Amino acid sequence: MLRCQCGRNFGSRANSNANCPRCNKKTSLTTIKSFSSSSELRDAVSKANVPDEIINELSSRLASYEKSERSNEGFTSDDINKILSLAKLPDDSITLSSLNESMIKLNIKKMSAERLIEILETSSMVLRNSNTSWSVLQ
Ligand SMILES: [Zn+2]
Repeated sequence: MLRCQCGRNFGSRANSNANCPRCNKKTSLTTIKSFSSSSELRDAVSKANVPDEIINELSSRLASYEKSERSNEGFTSDDINKILSLAKLPDDSITLSSLNESMIKLNIKKMSAERLIEILETSSMVLRNSNTSWSVLQ
């Protein structure tokens, strides 16, 4: 199977002097794969020449899937308020273990307490007091 720089894939006998059936160039061809039978070659060529529209549709579906996965990973501010109010110690500070406990109580398994504290720090919702303790700023 040969591929042209224009994106077209096509079959050709080994070492034959082929031209691209789309743009008729010979210079920009590369051999993708060699096949022992012509039916294998035909299958491979038709798979490789999937129309652009289908490829576009697949990639946009993939993009929206990834987007929804990402948003499921995030927390709503409601979730965060619940976690923090459960995790808060009497002096209004939280620790990794108190955060972890409150996430377990709320049955939140979307991310680790370590990751959540990173996000809270980045968004200035908590302030680090020491390596093990944070003040809740909200
Ligand atoms: Zn071509």
